[in-house]
Amino acid sequence: MKIPNMLDAKKRNKNEVKYTEYNVDFNNFGENKKFYVRTYGCQMNEHDSEKIKGMLSSVGFKSAEDINDADVIILNTCAIRENAHDKVFGFLGVLKHMKQSNKNLIIGLCGCMAQEEGVVDEILAKHKYVNFVFGTHNLHRLPNLIKENMDTDKQVIEVYSKEGNLIEGMPVKRASNYKAYVNIIYGCDKFCTYCIVPYTRGKQRSRNKDDILKEVNKLVKEGYQEVTLLGQNVNAYGKDLNLGYDLADLLEEVAKTNIPRVRFITSHPWDFTDRMIEVIKKYPNIMNYVHLPIQSGSDKILKLMGRRYTREEYKTLFDKLKKIDGIAITTDIIVGFPGETEEDFLDTLDIVKYCQYDGAFTFIYSPRVGTPAAKLFEKDQTTLEEKEQRLYRLNELINDYSLMSNKRMVNNTYKILVEGLSNKDGMMYGYTETNKLVNFKGNEDLIGKIVNIRIIDAKSFSLDGELVE
Ligand code: SF4
Repeated sequence: MKIPNMLDAKKRNKNEVKYTEYNVDFNNFGENKKFYVRTYGCQMNEHDSEKIKGMLSSVGFKSAEDINDADVIILNTCAIRENAHDKVFGFLGVLKHMKQSNKNLIIGLCGCMAQEEGVVDEILAKHKYVNFVFGTHNLHRLPNLIKENMDTDKQVIEVYSKEGNLIEGMPVKRASNYKAYVNIIYGCDKFCTYCIVPYTRGKQRSRNKDDILKEVNKLVKEGYQEVTLLGQNVNAYGKDLNLGYDLADLLEEVAKTNIPRVRFITSHPWDFTDRMIEVIKKYPNIMNYVHLPIQSGSDKILKLMGRRYTREEYKTLFDKLKKIDGIAITTDIIVGFPGETEEDFLDTLDIVKYCQYDGAFTFIYSPRVGTPAAKLFEKDQTTLEEKEQRLYRLNELINDYSLMSNKRMVNNTYKILVEGLSNKDGMMYGYTETNKLVNFKGNEDLIGKIVNIRIIDAKSFSLDGELVE
């Protein structure tokens, strides 16, 4: 049994990362069995789930449409906020009942929560019906762990706190035939004081550019229309490789593969260089959309968060990005960080007024055990009610700007990549180059195609359009 340890997870070493090929020793032991994967959290997790599905399919498992038909259920979890934790343990309660009527049901838990000491302790103490737990560093070991559990009928816990090798060639069952995620960097060394990711995902490790380009070229051949280059901080790509090759170089080479759309997420302002901006400007197939988390508009709070930039430095970068033709910029903001006063919060509203974001993900600060900010939270004076009020005020402002930006698009025509049927009757949906959601009347033949849509109406979170022949 290998259980996680937060102190080990915090350590950084200079050991070289080894690159190895995925290899699994067993064939078809999942034949006649079905799996169901439930994913919580960010795009990294969504893509990890695609790898989980790929690995399970490669050893004979089939995908279950309905969770009740599954023989193996895996929860791929997120640790970024306390409510994600509550949701997972709530759902484990449901699975416990399912297992009472189906003794052969196999339940697994993985992802960022599995990297937390407290979570594994809780599973060992109170959730013995969970068959296996594995972490973010040994995703590739999934077939071995299920097999071990099936063979021994013993609970299998294998979570490493130190990052392992970088595994290439893992099978992937992608959710879409025209949009794909491509990991370019794993882990994070920024250690923002509120964030659990550097502990759960380990040190910054970039993939070799040749492996990335091979994957993108394969996607181009398969007819994919869009790739999103993924990482906790993609702008740090290449720093650990010391080859003088960074995200600007990689973006340029990915653009030259002629994939119609290139996106990248997430960007830390600290690592955004002028060359990256020039490359985005130069290639029309690099989408004019950047997600640039600000987190707070107060210099005092930014310092407490360990974000490494001031509001003025952020604004300077923002202004440079705004010079990219038609660009949309979204952000993340935390309200109620420990020590945030009304004045600090007004600084956040002020920077939102300056940036007039196209959209934002906004949250009330959630303490994560083991992070420096969690200690500050113990002495925090601000009540939850005040924080909820601040979040409400912030969201009102964000929504106003989002609506204003959408309204400016009315009567203009944009290229959208059609993704599927909308929830609205007879409507399809897709995304503009600037990542705005558009609903329009059309037929299913358009799915996976890039079409011209004229915008006829704007709301805060979506647009309505009509197909232009
Ligand atoms: S850069 Fe992002 S992932 Fe890394 S510590 Fe900061 S918030 Fe977390």
